Amino acid sequence: MGGFSPMEFRLGFQLLQLVVLTRVNLDRRGIDIGSDLCPVCDRDVETSNHLFFSCEMVVDLWVLVARWWELDIPVTSSVLEWVAWIDSARLPSKVRNCLDVVVLTLMWSIWCSRNRMFSFTKPVKAVL
Ligand SMILES: [Zn+2]
Repeated sequence: MGGFSPMEFRLGFQLLQLVVLTRVNLDRRGIDIGSDLCPVCDRDVETSNHLFFSCEMVVDLWVLVARWWELDIPVTSSVLEWVAWIDSARLPSKVRNCLDVVVLTLMWSIWCSRNRMFSFTKPVKAVL
C-alpha cells in the first residue's frame, strides 16, 4: 500500500492550482503585483499550469523525466492533461507511485527555483 490513488493525485493537483501563489492567484486575491506575466519567460500569464507544465523553462525538464523513465510522456500544458495521461498510461502501481513522487519533487523544485528569482527580505520591524 502507499502512494496516491488517482483520485487523490487529481485532487491534489487541483488544490495546487488554487493555493500556489502564482502571479495570477495573487492578482485574484487583490494583491498588486504589477504584472501577471511569467517571471521566467515573460510570454504568458503565470498560472500554475503555465509554471509547472508549459513554460519554456519546464518543458525540457518534463522531456528529461520522460527520457529517464523511458516513457512516452507527452508534452502537456495543464494539470488535467497530465492526470489524464498518467491515468491512461496504466502503469504498474509501484511504478506509478514512484513516478508520482518524482513528479511532485519536480514540481517542488520548479516552485523553489521560481521563488529564488525574487529576493524576499524579512520585513524590518521599524517599517511595520
Ligand atoms: Zn513562463
